[in-house]
Amino acid sequence: MKKTIKDIELAGKKVLVRVDYNVPLDDKQQITNDKRIVATLPTIKYLLEQKAAVILMSHLGRPKGKVVASMSLKPAAARLGEHLNINVKMAPDCIGAETEKMAMELKSGEVLLLENLRYHPEEEKNDEAFAKKLASLGEVFVQDAFGTVHRAHASTAGIVKFLKTAACGFLVEKELKFLGEALDKPKRPFLAILGGSKVSDKIAVIENLLSKVDSLIIGGAMAYTFLKAEGIETGKSLVEADKVDVARDLIKKAQAKHIKLFIPIDHIIVDKVDFETKKIPADAVIKETEGADIPQGFMGVDVGPMTLQRISPVVNEAATIVWNGPLGVFEIEQFSKGTIEIAKLVAQATEKGATSVIGGGDSVSAVKKAGVDKKVTHISTGGGASLEFLEGKELPGIAALPNK
Ligand code: AMP
Repeated sequence: MKKTIKDIELAGKKVLVRVDYNVPLDDKQQITNDKRIVATLPTIKYLLEQKAAVILMSHLGRPKGKVVASMSLKPAAARLGEHLNINVKMAPDCIGAETEKMAMELKSGEVLLLENLRYHPEEEKNDEAFAKKLASLGEVFVQDAFGTVHRAHASTAGIVKFLKTAACGFLVEKELKFLGEALDKPKRPFLAILGGSKVSDKIAVIENLLSKVDSLIIGGAMAYTFLKAEGIETGKSLVEADKVDVARDLIKKAQAKHIKLFIPIDHIIVDKVDFETKKIPADAVIKETEGADIPQGFMGVDVGPMTLQRISPVVNEAATIVWNGPLGVFEIEQFSKGTIEIAKLVAQATEKGATSVIGGGDSVSAVKKAGVDKKVTHISTGGGASLEFLEGKELPGIAALPNK
């Protein structure tokens, strides 16, 4: 168990908090969605209540080590100020004399946001001297940016050793609790649902989950590589030819471990679709297959009704569910049914007492699209980080933090 902000002395301290304010901005630098800022409010409010002086640091976009005015964090400071009802000070940079002065003069109960960490190439290089300069601004380090803990950067990993005290904030604590409990002490049956576009992205996740789950549902484009491995016709579905052997191997491993593995037994298919724009041409032919085989000239874009019927009781009976990746091209209405149905089934199972953990990215959009985002146990805030967690990898930003 990692130390949290509840375990450390905060009164009168200058607390450096790594947050994830990588918020979407429009062309007028207006924030179009501030959920990442809102998500940090509990930690910041707690630190202020404990009479700390709060120094926040984040990256925004990919400025590639240079100052790019359109990637300034200034709009985030203004928005945070509105939420906290105080003036959030904005530093001109994240290091340097002027920033140091602002940090030094910051009083308990005040908040300072540093400018974009990635304006400096040293951030992503986890440069020691840069990490030390960041650390010199405060006395305590708090990690509350789960979306970046899989990266060994100066502000996520390097900084920790230069400060006497470090802990995780409430956001990271919650992620570790739900992801950690699902993997380490799941209520059984434990079901994992994996979808998305590529098997290659998820091999390590499947490998790790095969030693933990009772059942595994595979959907999305990656299912076609598994179907191919089973000798089933996949038409022109997205198959990763060089991963067919890996898929066959994973199927064998699942059998050897007596894990119930579900791959689609029918599909929604289409003869043409533009994956870039997520549009179907007007003359495209959309059909349901009668079985697992996909005819020549067609590609699978969603699971079919028989598959949903077969997996529905599996989701219903699960006590722990981890879900990452859509089961079809859910961005297109006609191919979203499988993913939306799964989201609803996961929500129903949760209402009956199951713990459900939704990995970042597209499964989160799917859960929202299905209107059940309030009905699942935990939605992870970090796509890449949650995947690496499910792979069983040590995350550098977490490993650097001290245990209780
Ligand atoms: P990922 O980023 O790996 O989680 O994959 C998400 C993407 O997979 C989404 O944009 C989906 O549209 C896509 N996807 C899901 N199922 C299919 C499919 N059967 N064919 C092509 N793309 C798919």
